[in-house]
Amino acid sequence: MPKRDIQNLLIVVCLWIISFSAGFILYSLPSPESSQTGTIYNASTVYAAESDNVSEAPNILGIEVPNETFYANASFKLSTDKALVEKETENYSLRLIEENKNQFRYLVTLDNLSEGENKLTLSLTDEVGNINNHQLTVNRMNISTCLQNPDRTVKETVFPFAIEVVVDKYNKLPDNFIPPVLINGSTRGLPVYKNGSAYVTPETFDALVEMIKDIQQQGISVVISSGYRSFSGQTKAHSYWSSLIGDKANYYAALPGFSEHHLGTTVDLLTVENNFTISDAYENTRLGKWLKENAYKYGFTMSYPKDKQHITGYRYEPWHWRYLGKEHAKIIEDLQITPTEYLYSLNRMSCE
Ligand SMILES: [Zn+2]
Repeated sequence: MPKRDIQNLLIVVCLWIISFSAGFILYSLPSPESSQTGTIYNASTVYAAESDNVSEAPNILGIEVPNETFYANASFKLSTDKALVEKETENYSLRLIEENKNQFRYLVTLDNLSEGENKLTLSLTDEVGNINNHQLTVNRMNISTCLQNPDRTVKETVFPFAIEVVVDKYNKLPDNFIPPVLINGSTRGLPVYKNGSAYVTPETFDALVEMIKDIQQQGISVVISSGYRSFSGQTKAHSYWSSLIGDKANYYAALPGFSEHHLGTTVDLLTVENNFTISDAYENTRLGKWLKENAYKYGFTMSYPKDKQHITGYRYEPWHWRYLGKEHAKIIEDLQITPTEYLYSLNRMSCE
């Protein structure tokens, strides 16, 4: 048996989130590189638990998996200075994604993970036939279970300016957060309820112009009743509901710091068809139906869908639309999950 030479061999595994829609790199990721394949597990998260730190085999050296949380699709990269044989199994696939001066980079995509603990054996074979097996333990958790953890505490959000930021009852924006640029929609031709104002970010504005033009072309009535809201504006909205329904107000209006309306990417859209009111009947208006069918094509998502209060924390709000961009909106539509579940997965959020 030749002495195992491990000196120049190093395989580093980084845990990675991959979106099946190629092209976006998450702002919260710790490394400057990303990959662009894979699938997102429907409404679920994946946690990496522990793994061994396998050492030697001729020409193939260990794998190191940090014991950290990761979500959605479980993929990671291997780097090695020896070529490995690409592999497809029902548990994982190993694909060469980059070769550069004797550095080979592989993408490992974990597949078919069931909920709960999964034990995987990653079997690596090098170009001369040496084999090294690695044991991985991966725990896949259902995100709606995570979201309903009764012991959750409020955290301040770390990347408030990111379009994918989570703002909900447990994730608060920093005090007096204001988007850097806001456009007054009413002075730029958008229909605004009762000559009010509707401030939104530039990207949201562009998407609204496009979407509202198409809505109006169908002869459907639409106005914006609310866009960006300041913290004090949100205090007023919350007090209004408190005066009407007391403690239940939290279910109807967020406290300051906890509202998507602070982001400048969220609007409430009303229609003359039901006298510009917000009620469940909204979904039966032509506007309600059109939005449900088409809004995602313009990058808008319904933050608080029907029968999802246990996940979102809010009642059904078919008039409340948040701009997340076309890519994200399409994935959410395809998977038929709430934006909450999607954004938690995307941002690797914990529910503690
Ligand atoms: Zn709203």
